[in-house]
Amino acid sequence: MVQHHQHEVIIVGAGGAGLMAALYASRGADTAVLSKLYPTRSHTGAAQGGVGAALGNLEPDKTDWHAFDTVKGADYLGDQDAIEFMCAEAVPIVYELEHMGLPFSRTPDGRIAQRRFGGHTNNETKQPVMRACYAADRTGHMILQTLYQQCIKNKVHFYDEFHVLDLLTRDGVANGVVAVELATGDLHVFHAKAVVFATGGHGRVWEVTSNAYAYTGDGVAITMRRGIPAEDMEFFQFHPTGIRRMGILITEGVRGEGGVLLNGKGERFMERYAPTVKDLASRDVVSRAMNLEIKAGNGIDGKRYLHLDMRPETVNKYAELDGRKNPDGQPYRVTGEQLLAKVPDIIDFARTYMNVDPIKEPMPVQPTAHYAMGGIPTNMHAEVVIDSKNTVMPGLYAAGEVACVSVHGANRLGTNSLLDILVFGKEAGLRAAEYAKGAQYKALDDDPTAFTREQLNRLLKSTGGEKVVTISEEMKIKMMDDVGVFRGEAGMRSAEQKMRELRERYKKVSVEDQGRKFNTDLLNAWELGCLLDVALVTSVCALARQESRGAHAREDFPKRDDANWMKHTLAWLEGDHVRLDYKSVAVTKYQPMVRVY
Ligand SMILES: Cc1cc2nc3c(=O)[nH]c(=O)nc-3n(C[C@H](O)[C@H](O)[C@H](O)COP(=O)(O)OP(=O)(O)OC[C@H]3O[C@@H](n4cnc5c(N)ncnc54)[C@H](O)[C@@H]3O)c2cc1C
Repeated sequence: MVQHHQHEVIIVGAGGAGLMAALYASRGADTAVLSKLYPTRSHTGAAQGGVGAALGNLEPDKTDWHAFDTVKGADYLGDQDAIEFMCAEAVPIVYELEHMGLPFSRTPDGRIAQRRFGGHTNNETKQPVMRACYAADRTGHMILQTLYQQCIKNKVHFYDEFHVLDLLTRDGVANGVVAVELATGDLHVFHAKAVVFATGGHGRVWEVTSNAYAYTGDGVAITMRRGIPAEDMEFFQFHPTGIRRMGILITEGVRGEGGVLLNGKGERFMERYAPTVKDLASRDVVSRAMNLEIKAGNGIDGKRYLHLDMRPETVNKYAELDGRKNPDGQPYRVTGEQLLAKVPDIIDFARTYMNVDPIKEPMPVQPTAHYAMGGIPTNMHAEVVIDSKNTVMPGLYAAGEVACVSVHGANRLGTNSLLDILVFGKEAGLRAAEYAKGAQYKALDDDPTAFTREQLNRLLKSTGGEKVVTISEEMKIKMMDDVGVFRGEAGMRSAEQKMRELRERYKKVSVEDQGRKFNTDLLNAWELGCLLDVALVTSVCALARQESRGAHAREDFPKRDDANWMKHTLAWLEGDHVRLDYKSVAVTKYQPMVRVY
């Protein structure tokens, strides 16, 4: 049975971006949120370290410095108009959340506390600056809870555990989505004037990842299947400090509080790679340095991991060597109790998952797939754009990790994603409601669920005997090995080939559960199809880009090439073919320079 609904604005995704969009859209239009997860289980809730805003609560800071650091961190691939907008909006939006009741950690005199994070600097002294606003190491959790409460108060309609499988369009205008209700297996058609995608990232493409199981690239895959390109898919960030083998994240906030990375010889190797900011260089720089150390045999006991050391004696030793001072000019010193107050969850994770007490022992870490810089192309108003001329697709919006605005360019700075979801989530909500006010409902096609049924029936009826877990494992390992921190032509070619082969085999995947209620077997198989689409496009885009920039580090093209490659990739998935085009980067006042940390 197919059920029909109508809402002026439909938001797909109930993470930080979706909820912020819902809050603002619901002030001007009838708004509903669809989420495959219960809203407060969204990955935003896992964000630990903080949200960036140049409040200058502890030391001098400026919005302009934040913008320049972001442009530089992005390795000059970020669109500077959008970056300047985001960094300027950061300050009022953090105060807005404070006024909604978000329990930020505080300075002794009651202002919002701030900590250091990679790549965020005082542009005059070049030293790390305290710019990350945090609620202990549960910042994302607090953002999600605060926004969810506000949405409930604003009477937003929530369709929880509704998995969206298709975007509906008419004459090039978005007019709804199709979802399956997990509890019943029923299909639902949602007719809308405006649709916002806020479905998060796709880190489950890689073997070792910090990302939630739900990070399967649904939004990018669904829109690509409807002819919308994906932007900058070759840029995927590896975070330096994942728990060894598991990939669970240890926030950069640990290094912000003074933790250091050590190799098997006990050396603080970041001094060699980034002499000024050391452990607080941007993530691409630190992840590459770690891989080089491991490759040189400098891993712990020669193995493929390193140590993150936040024992108070280590922190205090290096703080003294660095001459690090508190805002009052006193030397920086920490105790175990203070660290416990600042990063309680991290200490708990280390104890639970590694049986390591980080106050007494160093933590074993390795780089972990973390963040999708690429995604659905949008302009700075969260409107989806569909070609190299930035032509807007009416009625369609995207915000958060699924979108590519692009404020993160080739590499995102820590704390800038929580900021991105707030600023562009708000923008998406405002714009979608405004558009809906002036628009009519566009008629639906005669059989709006046809494409969804076709996809599900193929999976349910296949008797090919291929298994979801086997294909998924093969994809993850190949992508980790050949489209990971370092990339070379031969590896990427074989990855592309492998993804094509896996997409063929995927047609023979069979699903054991033939039932209707909570058929997660079926939906996992459907999600694997999204991951394979995303993995294929990622490897094709990466192979095409013959330079190294930000997170895209090629062994065969080790230098950044601004003359030929300072441009965004656009990729269309047309059956098995990936068509590429490029569009220019918006430059306002920051001309590309060599990055020095
Ligand atoms: C462990 C971890 C720590 C992080 N720490 C920080 C940090 O300290 N600071 C920082 O700035 N960034 C951090 N990040 C990044 C940041 O948290 C995320 O990029 C951001 O929260 C993403 O928000 P979102 O709203 O785009 O997506 P999410 O919060 O993931 O929400 C996605 C939503 O989409 C829904 N959805 C997805 N697919 C479908 C579908 N097909 N149908 C229906 N619903 C769907 C999901 O149910 C979910 O509600 C961290 C990320 C991780 C993984």
